[in-house]
Amino acid sequence: MIKLKGQTALITGGSRGIGREVMEKLAIAGANVCFIDLISDVAGQVEAEMKEHGVECAFFEGNVADLDQCTKIADAIQERFSKIDILVNNAGITRDSLFMRMSRDNWDDVININLSGIFNMCKAVIRPMVKSKYGRIINLSSIVGFTGNAGQVNYSSAKAGLIGFTKSLAKEVASRNVTCNAIAPGFIKSDMTDKLDESQKKAMLANVPMKRMGTLEDIANGVLFLVSPMADYITGTTLHINGGMF
Ligand code: NDP
Repeated sequence: MIKLKGQTALITGGSRGIGREVMEKLAIAGANVCFIDLISDVAGQVEAEMKEHGVECAFFEGNVADLDQCTKIADAIQERFSKIDILVNNAGITRDSLFMRMSRDNWDDVININLSGIFNMCKAVIRPMVKSKYGRIINLSSIVGFTGNAGQVNYSSAKAGLIGFTKSLAKEVASRNVTCNAIAPGFIKSDMTDKLDESQKKAMLANVPMKRMGTLEDIANGVLFLVSPMADYITGTTLHINGGMF
C-alpha cells in the first residue's frame, strides 16, 4: 500500500470530478490535502469527508488564472503545513465551439485557466520544493492535446502546451529531486463529459478499444502512482490513461 503520511498535497479544482477523487486517494494514503476552487458550495462537505481518513484538509477559494491569488494561497499553506510536497494541477474548463465561431474570449479563458493556471501554481510552489529537495508535480492534460479534436482548438492547445511545460520544467528541477509529469485522460465519466449528448457519447465510445468510459478512479490511481516512491525515477513523461484509444 502506498503511504504518503506526513506529506502535504495541493489539488486545484478539488471540489468535484477527478480532483475530488484524487484528493480522496491521497488522503487515504495519509497525505494532508488542500484544495483550490473558484467557489465551492461543497467545500465544507469535502473537508469533512477527507478528515474522516484521519488527515487534515483545507479549502482555499481562488482562481488559478490569477498569479497573485495562487501565490497567497501557496504561502498560506506553507505557513500552516510548513511545506507542499505534491501539486496536482487539475483545474480545467472547456469552452467548445468550431474555430470559425470561437470567440477570442473563449480562447483566452481556456488558455488562462488550463495553461497559465499551471504556470501560476508551479511558480507559487517551485522555490520551496527546490529548496527542500522534494516535490511531485502532476499536470492534467488530455488525449485531445495529442490527437486534436474538432471544436476544441482552445482546449487542445492548452492541453498540448502543458506537455511542453511539463517536459521543460522537469529538466530544470530534476537535480533537486522535484519531478514533473503529466496525465492524459481519455474519455472519463465526469461532469465535463456528462454535458455531451447521447449520440456524442456513443460516437466516442466506439473509439475506445476497452469499450467503456474511464472512471475517476482510473485517473486518480495514475496520480497516486506518479506521486508515490514507485515513480521516484520518472519525470518529464506523460501517462496516458485512455482504455487504448491512443
Ligand atoms: P470538472 O469540470 O468536473 O471539475 C473541474 C474543477 O476545476 C472544478 O472543481 C472547478 O471548480 C475547478 N476550476 C475550474 N476553473 C477554475 C479556476 N479558474 N480556478 C480554480 N478552480 C477551477 O472537471 P474534470 O474532473 O472532468 O476534469 C479535471 C481535469 O481533467 C481537467 O483539467 C480536464 O481538462 C481534465 N480532463 C478531463 C477529462 C474528462 O473526460 N472528464 C478528459 C481529459 C482531461 P468549480 O466547481 O468552482 O467550477
